[in-house]
Amino acid sequence: MKVLVLNCGSSSIKYQFMDTAEKITLAKGMVERIGMASAVLTHTPHGKEKIRIVGEILDHSIAIEYVIAVLLSPNHGVIKDKKEIDAVGHRVVHGGETFSDSVLITDEVMRVLKENIELAPLHNPPNIKGIQAATEHLPNTPQVGVFDTAFHVKMPPHAYLYGIPFELYKKYKIRRYGFHGTSHFFVAHRAAEILGKPIEELKIITAHLGNGCSMAAVDHGKSVDTTMGFTPLEGLLMGTRSGDMDPSVILYIMGKEGLSLAEANTLMNKHSGLIGVSGESSDMREIETAVQEGDKKAKNAFDLFTYRIKKYVGAYTAAMGGLDALVFTGGIGENSIMVRRDVCSNLEFIGIKFDEKLNENVSGECAISTEDSKVKVLRIPTNEELVIALDTEKIVKEQLAHSK
Ligand code: ADP
Repeated sequence: MKVLVLNCGSSSIKYQFMDTAEKITLAKGMVERIGMASAVLTHTPHGKEKIRIVGEILDHSIAIEYVIAVLLSPNHGVIKDKKEIDAVGHRVVHGGETFSDSVLITDEVMRVLKENIELAPLHNPPNIKGIQAATEHLPNTPQVGVFDTAFHVKMPPHAYLYGIPFELYKKYKIRRYGFHGTSHFFVAHRAAEILGKPIEELKIITAHLGNGCSMAAVDHGKSVDTTMGFTPLEGLLMGTRSGDMDPSVILYIMGKEGLSLAEANTLMNKHSGLIGVSGESSDMREIETAVQEGDKKAKNAFDLFTYRIKKYVGAYTAAMGGLDALVFTGGIGENSIMVRRDVCSNLEFIGIKFDEKLNENVSGECAISTEDSKVKVLRIPTNEELVIALDTEKIVKEQLAHSK
């Protein structure tokens, strides 16, 4: 099946056109600066050079029209007819408590997605716009929503409830949702395949470390806990987000500095994390360079970042009563030699024997623990688009079988 995977943000759309049988990307690209006069579309057909088109793209509908046009283009395209797009798979950030699996988009699903806007005010509106635009241009093509939250929705109550009055959970659905679900799902399953064991027999910790960072405890194939919470702010230190802290800190700062709710939100989400602590950068590569040059604030930020990951490795090992594999993924997890080394140091007591040489020479999916390490440490590049494409295919085929 050929699936167009869309990840729609407020001013950008990332796309991949995938062949699920071959598990390959036929073309991929991105539309940036939607709504501005000089929007940019970059497009790379499989095995060919990247092209760049600059023009006015006023909204998501026009952006998707461009994406379809470039897929059809005689010079840079990969299809001859729109009908070759068998289905569209949308990344949707927040499925709330309703969606524990991907769904075929219907009017009823759209109604629930709109209800969930309150839970993800930054992310769900552009996701909804993307679905509407794709439906407008491909009215006869099935559209499927794949949720970042779905993998975590069935966590046990002791992992998802907060220690606040229960009525507030009931009234406002305040609970841990967790995000990056497609990535945690993908790398946990790949880890099981690499280890040659059914995922139902394994205890795995997955660390997705990118600009946003989260970890998940995947026990017998199920996410039983994850570091992000009600919003993607909780848990690990991130590029610009604080992660865990005593909630009183923010109340105290609001009082002292006279911050409004919106300003406090911006402080925690945009000016904290690596950039806040280091005063340098939210980008791990720049933090590492500064650390190597002896910058003390950058070192604090780096240490805070890795220490918190290590802390959760301990916590999740205890939560699952053991550990078989620790997986690193995401821009930092896949590429940072220093982060992986720091996180894995002194973890022999839980069975991790780290291999410095393997860690310095990674490529593709690989182990960075020694042959005889009881707990395997793996580097696995994530592929969220493939999960979305395969899930889309599964849902569409189920639907077809149902309607026969
Ligand atoms: P996003 O979460 O936006 O998808 P990525 O997964 O691409 O982001 O991760 C971006 C992060 O990965 C940045 O902090 C970047 O510095 C970091 N990164 C990328 N390459 C390296 C590298 N070679 N060493 C250390 N960090 C890296």
